[in-house]
Amino acid sequence: MDTSVAPGDDFFRYANGAWLRKTEIPADRASFGAWSELFDQAQRRTHELLEAAAKGSAAAGSDEQKIGDYYASFLDEAGIEAKALAPLREPLAAIAGIGDRRALAAYVGASLRADVDPLNNTNFQTDRLFGVWIAQDLNDPSRNVPFVLQGGLGLPDRDYYVEAGERMEGYRKAYRDHIAAMLKLGSIADADAKASRIFDLERRIASVHATRTESVDVAKANNPWPRAEFARRAPGLDWDALFQAAHLDRAPTIVVWHPAAVRGIAALVASVPLDAWRDFMTFHAIDRRAAVLPKAFGEEAFAFYGRTLSGTPQRQERWKRAVDATNNALGDAVGRIYVQKYFPASAKAQLQQMVANISAAFDRRLDALTWMAPKTKASAKAKLGTLRVGIGYPDRWRDFSPLSIVRGDAFGNAERAELFEYQHHLGKLAQPPDRSEWWLTPQTVNALNMPVQNSLNFPAAILEPPFYDAAANAAVRYGAVGAIIGHEISHSFDDQGSQFDADGRFTNWWTPEDLAHFKEASSKLVAEFNAYAPFPDLHVNGQLTLSENIADVAGLSAAYDAYRASRAQESAASGDDRSFFISYGETWRSKRREALTRQLVLTDGHAPDEYRADTVRNLDPWYAAFDVKAGQKLFLAPPDRVQVW
Ligand SMILES: [Zn+2]
Repeated sequence: MDTSVAPGDDFFRYANGAWLRKTEIPADRASFGAWSELFDQAQRRTHELLEAAAKGSAAAGSDEQKIGDYYASFLDEAGIEAKALAPLREPLAAIAGIGDRRALAAYVGASLRADVDPLNNTNFQTDRLFGVWIAQDLNDPSRNVPFVLQGGLGLPDRDYYVEAGERMEGYRKAYRDHIAAMLKLGSIADADAKASRIFDLERRIASVHATRTESVDVAKANNPWPRAEFARRAPGLDWDALFQAAHLDRAPTIVVWHPAAVRGIAALVASVPLDAWRDFMTFHAIDRRAAVLPKAFGEEAFAFYGRTLSGTPQRQERWKRAVDATNNALGDAVGRIYVQKYFPASAKAQLQQMVANISAAFDRRLDALTWMAPKTKASAKAKLGTLRVGIGYPDRWRDFSPLSIVRGDAFGNAERAELFEYQHHLGKLAQPPDRSEWWLTPQTVNALNMPVQNSLNFPAAILEPPFYDAAANAAVRYGAVGAIIGHEISHSFDDQGSQFDADGRFTNWWTPEDLAHFKEASSKLVAEFNAYAPFPDLHVNGQLTLSENIADVAGLSAAYDAYRASRAQESAASGDDRSFFISYGETWRSKRREALTRQLVLTDGHAPDEYRADTVRNLDPWYAAFDVKAGQKLFLAPPDRVQVW
């Protein structure tokens, strides 16, 4: 802490000042904070598990064999170096063989993967021409459907291609150079000319893309198109060939998340010369696999994506990258072993009790709302009452037996694992939705709300100090993990989540008056966050971050109520209001490099951590606890404090 700072002027620095002064971001990181400390811990633990699995005594075909061989193959730099460009031969020959637009459509279809997730993890970025997500139908909770999203960009967002200014111009030039460098490493002739052509094509793709703020608007995304209608609604692409190659040719309906972009991209497929498309596909086939190609590829990819785009000076050691890659490819198989060792049953029981207490507090807050009509209130309570909460790890583990992982084939392992992941999701099209499905692995430091499943995930790796410490007093526990639990519960009632009913149907259960009140309260929060500026020329986007900011305020309020209620049961050692809020502020301790902050302000639905800590200013008890007065920087007059729920 830095107690020389007045909490009412700068709560983030009051709670974290000493930490901020003494902490330096490690050279191989773009950011560092409480979340990174837990990430490091999970990574170290996973490293030990993978080292043991890689010793090689596991039965062939077992999960241990697969994770051990995946990890060992990724680590084997000498083996990868010796193969040189050989792993690229087949994929690049397939692209060179694209002779007409039908073949191009089939190639695009065959290359699609389950690589985006617009509602749970809110991941919209893919360098494949389209992203695919398979989940419960927004309009019919009895079935799963495929969703198709815009794709085709190597840079993090359309803004990088279309925004004016020296900084963006610099990124564009660096990206063109990066494309050329990758083509040269892949021994592709005429690399510079091709790089310009590829970049120009991506710029045209970007020009039809929806913005990040438009992407999170589910009302704009809920476009079920009959599969047979695609040729008419988005002409230019041979959709039959694409869907057949993507194994989506039996889905009667496909939801088009970004209709204007899908139409625009289809038109580009018809109008842009085949040569340019082949070059584009060639570059991405190489770039996407840089991590499992010879060292020079990975160095070049890091120089651009790590150093230039995120401001990270130094590349992570190979073992760390190998752990991350294995987690990405075989996360559930790693997680099953991880929780056996690192997640005690006693933690699960105490956390379930906390979830129940915070849920009950949220329910009491619903009862106490004066502005909400009884009908709307009943729907909200029904939704809360049927919320399904996953703690630590899933009830059932995924079966990896059809996936072949071969020691010494890092490139092939990566391809097969991604295809297997896609097939896993395709398999859901023949099944009814599973509300207990997990969207995070147990060793992930994060938590999620899944609106169509009306369920939450709290993975084992986040249920650790400083978020969760079984020995801490109630104030500290509720201020930290309690606020996270409250945050995830509140997502069910933020501007996004409140558009889904108890069954996950995208429907309006609000009266017009209630909705108007909710929007008015939300717009105050938009304005509050628009006013924050991490750099003089860069303001937070209050609309883009609204869902998260509502979840923070509502979640912290519910956690606070639950903490106060628990004081009646627990002993005098429950702590006090000050330690509740300080505990909350401390979980947001973090530092970020400027390039990453700039990237995330454009692309991330979360506001920078500092302002998330400062959201305490919306809660009345914070003013009393720290004697905050009018005139102090974070002071809000009572009518300006946002109390959505
Ligand atoms: Zn959130």
